[in-house]
Amino acid sequence: MNMSSVNENASPAQTWPELLDQLAAKAKREGTLKALSSAEGFTEKVRRVQEINGLRRKLVSWISQCSESAYGKSGGTASRLRDEGNLKFKRNDNLGSLKFYTESVICAPALGPELSLAFGNRSAALYHLGRYQDCLQDIELALKHRYPKNLEFKLHQRRGQCFVKLGEFDPAKAAFDLAIQALDLIPKLTPEKRDSLSRDIQALSVESVSISKSQTSLPEAWPGSIPPTFEPTNPDLPGATSSLSVKRDPEKGRFVVADEEVAVGQVLFSELPYASILLLDQYSTHCHHCYKRFYAPIPCLKCTQARYCSEDCRTDSWDQYHQHECAHLDLLHSVGIAHLALRTVEVTGYNNLINLKPFFNQITLSSTSLFPSGEPYRNVVDLVEHSRTMPPDEIFQYATTALLLTMYLSQRTSFFSSGSMSGLKLDPSLDVNEDSLDFIGGLMLKHMLQLVCNASAIYEVGPTKEASEDLNNAVSETEQRRIATAIYPGASMMNHSCDPTVINSFFNNRLIVRAIMPVAKGGEIFNCYGPHFRRHLRQERLTDLQSQYNFTCRCSHCADPKADFRLHGRFAAFKCSNCDGPIPDILKEAELTNQEDWHANQPCMDCGQARRSSQQIGDVFLGLDLFNKGQEMAARQDFSGAIHSFQKSLEVRERSLYKNHKDILETLDSLAKCQAMMGNFSQSAESLRKCISIVENRYGAVSIEVGHELVKFSDILEGQIADNGLNPKTAEALEAILKRASEILLLHYGNWHHEFQEVQEKLKQVSILLPPNK
Ligand SMILES: [Zn+2]
Ligand SMILES: [Zn+2]
Ligand SMILES: [Zn+2]
Ligand SMILES: [Zn+2]
Repeated sequence: MNMSSVNENASPAQTWPELLDQLAAKAKREGTLKALSSAEGFTEKVRRVQEINGLRRKLVSWISQCSESAYGKSGGTASRLRDEGNLKFKRNDNLGSLKFYTESVICAPALGPELSLAFGNRSAALYHLGRYQDCLQDIELALKHRYPKNLEFKLHQRRGQCFVKLGEFDPAKAAFDLAIQALDLIPKLTPEKRDSLSRDIQALSVESVSISKSQTSLPEAWPGSIPPTFEPTNPDLPGATSSLSVKRDPEKGRFVVADEEVAVGQVLFSELPYASILLLDQYSTHCHHCYKRFYAPIPCLKCTQARYCSEDCRTDSWDQYHQHECAHLDLLHSVGIAHLALRTVEVTGYNNLINLKPFFNQITLSSTSLFPSGEPYRNVVDLVEHSRTMPPDEIFQYATTALLLTMYLSQRTSFFSSGSMSGLKLDPSLDVNEDSLDFIGGLMLKHMLQLVCNASAIYEVGPTKEASEDLNNAVSETEQRRIATAIYPGASMMNHSCDPTVINSFFNNRLIVRAIMPVAKGGEIFNCYGPHFRRHLRQERLTDLQSQYNFTCRCSHCADPKADFRLHGRFAAFKCSNCDGPIPDILKEAELTNQEDWHANQPCMDCGQARRSSQQIGDVFLGLDLFNKGQEMAARQDFSGAIHSFQKSLEVRERSLYKNHKDILETLDSLAKCQAMMGNFSQSAESLRKCISIVENRYGAVSIEVGHELVKFSDILEGQIADNGLNPKTAEALEAILKRASEILLLHYGNWHHEFQEVQEKLKQVSILLPPNK
């Protein structure tokens, strides 16, 4: 690289989108955007970008600037981290030691002694934390990575102890026997010392035999239910049950119909992603490959970034894509959704793509009807994109990113040489013909444009960050967290409705689609792309769907603006002095319906008699003021002050606002939380009972929102029982609440979901409390 190109380097603080904006502005000034729009086809567009003077050089310097890797392994660091872990372990801080041992595992070079020592020590922490399966895995890995022979007996002994805890007594006995044999591996062990060690192990072994006689099996943990899978897969609709099929219509394109009647709760899709990317902020908690949450991850053998739940995931990840990404994940994350386009090409494989090349229509990179049958890539290539209506500077940005990634693949990876017969090329960029490079670039551009409207987020449901950090918090607060971005070609075929027939959930990276309403034979299956009629206003839904997916929703809720207002208007209405019904809030109304012809001061929606008074408007401000004061006091931990202020706010709001107003819900929810913090469980239960009724009205009686409210409610009732002792009435109420919650969670998530299983566990506890004749 000569000096002038160094001077042209983007400043390190610049991000990839900023550099793209700069390049796009320059291209616009120089008139090259027009040439790009007129270029026919994706390959041609990438080629045009490549011809722009000086652009390639910018991209080369961007790649080298991002390539300084800070993710190498270091034996020294690994040892230092292990020492830190040992300090914590001696102080019985098992969780603290686990963290340091894990970092030591991650930093240790694959071939050095540090890796096995880190695994060995971590297995001890895991044993004390009661995570026996993880402990067993670490013991295997320590032995595999040449754990010091003189210490090996300890690992066998610990393995035996794990098996005892798991109720597996034969393997336990075998492990204890191995431990005694391993004493021979200790050099210069005095006979006395050997005897004493051997006696200790014998004692553990004898003890385990007596446990095995006294109990036939340990109390059974929740059976590890897993979601169904549909094998062999539906060829036109990956992951779908065989009773669905794809239909085509010149007007609406492709859509999914039921060939047989569909029942509520039926699983319609159980689909693994074709390709997916874990979000960067989830790297330390989730497997890089299958997105399972882990406690004791194992590292990539080369870098310290990618972490896995198992060796299988590590091997699959390496073979499919990580070999082309290792140590370059910073660069790849900087390009956003384009990373998923790259991953799609990587998992398909260069060989496969070149073999398929003759079947592509070279202009559109589609028309895949000639693809060999059963080729899963076909379903990805066939997904829609909207490049025709996309502004030229956006196309330019995507095409430039496609070029960047093609250059990255050819300069930094062996992706293109995986097609060569010898596989022994020293310089991967040699000998790749320009045609193949352009073809891959064009494919990546096409995938990026498809992903804009076809990518799905993978969510995990769990306690909120605040709830998991605050151990005093008596009430469960859950949230949906986005952990990855993925492409599910099968489920992508479903059209959108704001009132969908299905609900989506995830089991690690597997998408599970369940029916939430019955569908007649021949009926269409509708997914919801995000905007839902109960959670979003009509105007908001229409705008979102138009901008991201390029269509106008014609579902019944979007078709009738007044009906949409009748639903949402009630949650922002005043209270009628005549019948307690809703009087529309005129400002909200204009906003909700986007209509200007509404007359000010509408009458009640139910009785048509009364109109709102000026005192009611005043109450809106008074109620808000009192609510904010309550929030401030709660933030200062002044819960009794907060309760007082929330109660006053509630009084004002209930006298002027319609009973299902969202402000009343907000007040009740905050009030219930503070009452629980103060240990006033019966009052808190009263407030939550009112919340649930509003949430039912707003989101529907079997909505997931109601499910979560019910779980909160069960926490409060449990608190009440713990405080006041067992009252059969409360226990019965608790059982009823949990049964309802469990039905809702089952409908939405299935019996393999941890939230459902937690509620089942609670139900089991309550049934013990209840009188036996029940
Ligand atoms: Zn995994
Ligand atoms: Zn790696
Ligand atoms: Zn709609
Ligand atoms: Zn009325």
